[in-house]
Amino acid sequence: MPKFHMLVTSRNYGCATWYRGEYFVYIPLHALDNGRAEYFDYYAIHEIAHIATYFHYNLIGHNEEFYSIFYSVCPPRYWFWEIDYKPLFAKLLKSAGYIITKEWHYGSWYKTKP
Ligand SMILES: [Zn+2]
Repeated sequence: MPKFHMLVTSRNYGCATWYRGEYFVYIPLHALDNGRAEYFDYYAIHEIAHIATYFHYNLIGHNEEFYSIFYSVCPPRYWFWEIDYKPLFAKLLKSAGYIITKEWHYGSWYKTKP
């Protein structure tokens, strides 16, 4: 039976990794400490999407396969963090018909092309 571990790390960044049927998600302390539970949620979803990408596609990294999973599991209100983090996500959203504007900030909604 695979085991799944979610851990906090003192490093500045998170990661997802696996070894002999055990899966590890590391969330940086700053994602817990910043007083915004939503940011922790976003971080955890991002890292879990890496594990799901490995399950589904046997791939690692921030590629289109990763974003097909991230897109489907992450609430749109958290997407702006990913857009700030990885330009590929903004590019894929644009090609899916989204308009990325300055309104892509926390607490606002997203727009689609008419
Ligand atoms: Zn990542």
